[in-house]
Amino acid sequence: MENSHSLRILLTAYECAPFYKRGGLGDVMGALPKALREVGVDARVVIPYYNMIREANGQKRVGEYEVEFEGKKRKIGVYEGFYGEQHVPIYFLENHAYLVTDNVRGKNKRIEQFAFFNLAVVELVSWLSKNKDWKADLLHCNDWHTALIPLIIDQKQLNLPTLLTIHNLNYQGKGSVRLLDLLGIEDQEAMELKRGVPATELNVLGEGILHATTVSTVSPTYAREISSENNRRPIYDYLRRRKQERSPNGKVLGILNGVDYDVWSPGVDHYIKTQFDATNWEQGKKANKQDLLLELGLEERLLFCFVGRMVGQKGVDLLMSAVPTLVNLNANLIVLGSGNPAVEQSTVRVAQQHKDNIRVALAYDEKFAHKLYASSDFIVIPSRFEPCGLIQMISMKYGTIPIASNTGGLSDSIADGRNGFLFKTGSKHDLKQALRKASKRYAIKAEYNRMVEDAMQTDFSWKQSVLEYKRLYQEIMGKQLQKIRLESNIL
Ligand code: ADP
Repeated sequence: MENSHSLRILLTAYECAPFYKRGGLGDVMGALPKALREVGVDARVVIPYYNMIREANGQKRVGEYEVEFEGKKRKIGVYEGFYGEQHVPIYFLENHAYLVTDNVRGKNKRIEQFAFFNLAVVELVSWLSKNKDWKADLLHCNDWHTALIPLIIDQKQLNLPTLLTIHNLNYQGKGSVRLLDLLGIEDQEAMELKRGVPATELNVLGEGILHATTVSTVSPTYAREISSENNRRPIYDYLRRRKQERSPNGKVLGILNGVDYDVWSPGVDHYIKTQFDATNWEQGKKANKQDLLLELGLEERLLFCFVGRMVGQKGVDLLMSAVPTLVNLNANLIVLGSGNPAVEQSTVRVAQQHKDNIRVALAYDEKFAHKLYASSDFIVIPSRFEPCGLIQMISMKYGTIPIASNTGGLSDSIADGRNGFLFKTGSKHDLKQALRKASKRYAIKAEYNRMVEDAMQTDFSWKQSVLEYKRLYQEIMGKQLQKIRLESNIL
């Protein structure tokens, strides 16, 4: 154990399962620290102390400190918890004005809230050092909600390297550059920033990309996709600028996410009625499917499902355009998701025309998601882009074959024809063809069974990826040391 805690990593995001989860980021934030501790990294987590978390868990208050925001001193309460067999320490930061919910209304309000959280996280580092005798070696930030941290650290000239992992480049946190005043950033750097961005807008993720010591994303293919020189949207200018300014360290690295099999295994899943594993999956899946179809008043047929946020990215509209094909194949479709009201309504509209075959649940329902993975024969993932995607990996563990767009992490985790099907991203025609191909495969039992068994045995645990993170942390710290030595030589 002597060398085991030589790396001390503080990970931060706006969500972390099992305390608060809204999507794949929550899964990753719950699982990665556990996996890191298993390979001897002292990983800890910090997230806001939303009311929901307080009500559900009631953590222990271990201290408090102050930060200056909007020109005033604001109190932060520190609460501590531990989770998983690995006993991961997690800190929750409380402030009754800013950190009550992740869902404050208003564009600038939301980015102000996270700017406040970011400042509080930076201050937590010194609080931990003084009060817990724990000095973080590196801060691992995730997505735009924590992407101002590298800028704040630069601004305060702290000697703390940062890794920014992009889980979705589409969410950037755009808002008024007034944010910098709230943070008390008034010197040369702020002036440069204000000049450097169009009009008065600040792109929070963009600043993270420029200021972080290293930037990574959640699959090698997505890393390549977002690094392509042909990308035109403004956020790509930040990536290009980083590449130019930091050459050769400006590159975005891709490390594939893993799945937490403590949570996502049909053999130990308490949300599902009949547990099963790779040895008895046929009976197990059949029993779960019968129960679910009965509950939803659907006839026993081939079962396709969709689970995901109802936003343009996830392509549920593409799937709904293929409903006549599914009906022709005499299949059922169950859709679980919530999000954009327009996408929700048009999904329901199509479903209403095919009441014998389709059910739609407009909800965020953890238990129902587990039941769908356990009962379905196929899951359709028609994403227009997908940084990593966890649902294909989760569903494979439950013997549910993914039919997915050939993009991002979907391309990196699905072997077409072996443990899933890939089709051309965005193509309705190819999606329909893939659905027909899948149903044909299902009809040839020996082939379909081989596919299910292959899928169930594909290893998407964190074992491999966690070593890549560990190596990356070490590499970043090595660079930081070199930088310090260089700077002190110059002095
Ligand atoms: P993203 O992070 O883009 O939402 P991922 O595929 O990476 O997509 O992760 C999605 C995670 O969120 C999975 O754990 C999935 O089960 C869960 N999820 C998505 N939508 C719902 C929903 N409506 N109800 C319950 N869980 C959901």
